[in-house]
Amino acid sequence: MEILYKSTRDDSNRVSASYAITKGIADDGGLYVPESFPSLDISLEDLSKLDYKGVAYEIMKLFFTDFTKEELQYCIDKAYDEKFDTEEIVPMSFVDKAYYLELFHGSTIAFKDMALSILPYLMKVSAKKNDIKEDIVILTATSGDTGKAALAGFAGVEGVKIIVFYPKGGVSAIQEKQMVTQVGDNVKVVGINGNFDDAQTGVKNIFADKEFNEKLNKAGYRFSSANSINIGRLIPQVVYYAYAYANLLKNGKIEEGDLINFVVPTGNFGNILAGYFAKRIGIPVNKLICASNENKVLFDFFNSGIYDRNRDFILTTSPSMDILISSNFERLVYLSCGSDAKKNLAFMNDLKEKGEYKVTDEMKRFIDESFVGGFASEVMVGNRIKDVFDRTGYVIDTHTAVASAVYEDYLKETKDDSATVIVSTASPYKFSRAVLSAIDGIKHDEDDFVLVDRLNEISGIEIPKAVNDIRNAAILHDTVCEKDAMINEVESFLKLN
Ligand SMILES: *Cc1c(COP(=O)(O)O)cnc(C)c1O
Repeated sequence: MEILYKSTRDDSNRVSASYAITKGIADDGGLYVPESFPSLDISLEDLSKLDYKGVAYEIMKLFFTDFTKEELQYCIDKAYDEKFDTEEIVPMSFVDKAYYLELFHGSTIAFKDMALSILPYLMKVSAKKNDIKEDIVILTATSGDTGKAALAGFAGVEGVKIIVFYPKGGVSAIQEKQMVTQVGDNVKVVGINGNFDDAQTGVKNIFADKEFNEKLNKAGYRFSSANSINIGRLIPQVVYYAYAYANLLKNGKIEEGDLINFVVPTGNFGNILAGYFAKRIGIPVNKLICASNENKVLFDFFNSGIYDRNRDFILTTSPSMDILISSNFERLVYLSCGSDAKKNLAFMNDLKEKGEYKVTDEMKRFIDESFVGGFASEVMVGNRIKDVFDRTGYVIDTHTAVASAVYEDYLKETKDDSATVIVSTASPYKFSRAVLSAIDGIKHDEDDFVLVDRLNEISGIEIPKAVNDIRNAAILHDTVCEKDAMINEVESFLKLN
């Protein structure tokens, strides 16, 4: 069955998967969603006999129907190789009362690697299929994790150039060092004097600059985006939900058909939405538990049916979840109102103009069938890291701890005894300072790498290669620019002058 994609804001236009991947976002500002959901065409039993790459193929072929078997296999083989520090790709550990699905064994030790290691190849194949002759220029603004994962994914990929802007002083020391040491002729990293919003706005302005786009096209380039609304990021994330189920089945932890829960630390709603897609294609999922930090817009939505972004932005120890507008939530809103682009657009306009919208009771019921919301305060996160470590020796990062703490509450309230997977999104080493402070109760001001070694001493967990590699790596990018001069950096990197 061929799957076509429609925009959440105007459904007159249907496009192929590969076209949607090259575009990222639709011209009307909407996000691409599959016109209908395919169904898994392999039994769960057979799925459980496959390795990660095998499961990846079974899932992606359902959604990327205009890719040939060879094309998809090529992308999968290129993505899930020795860049991951374990052959399993996503190992799972049973700790306390749940299974921790570790999505942080890729090159930047955070879950963004799961999709960003394959996106460059999907994009390359898609460009060829759509007869795009220009080189692709990826522009990305990052608050920390996406930037490095995109750099690592696109470095050295022929026909692609990538420029990452990050807020100077607004990312963790390890995150910054990961980016500014990035090797590759086709990569450029620029710090800006401003915050993440300034970087994001600057990138959007460059995308929207018609004159500049013409100049770019003349020089043989076109822009694309690697952010989490691209279906080339969303669909590869469906894979590990299926893989987790298959793995539990293979190891006799569940019977075929048993329903399981996933708890997902959520920011932009991309990861958990992939879990919902897994449910829609036939993976037996009971509840998707959406875990927020103190920026609990989604938790409040699940309680009230009102999405309200009018509130202060709180800086927490789980920065990758510090977000007030969860872009991918638009896809769920669209699906919950019967895939009605006009209705969805009205909600999104309310969000833009008033900062809030309220869904109907019917939509809320639809959403509640699959989702439950929870949130964890900073104190709960710290306590949870310490508690899990003290009792089991297992160390979780601050994002995973949000999910773990939310699950504790959920268990107390519901007594739901379904097998449960906690989606673990980052290595504790990426957030050594906060993790260590939670464990030893001391406010640390030592150098980040001193803290990495200290965490290693007390936990005995091997320091990931990604951290050791940057310890003494040369700084290759030291450009810092004003927020309104970002376009000049793009011009000079592409030699457009
Ligand atoms: C991006 C990120 C998240 C949030 O994922 P979304 O898809 O934005 O909901 C959670 N944890 C970590 C470590 C991340 O990098």
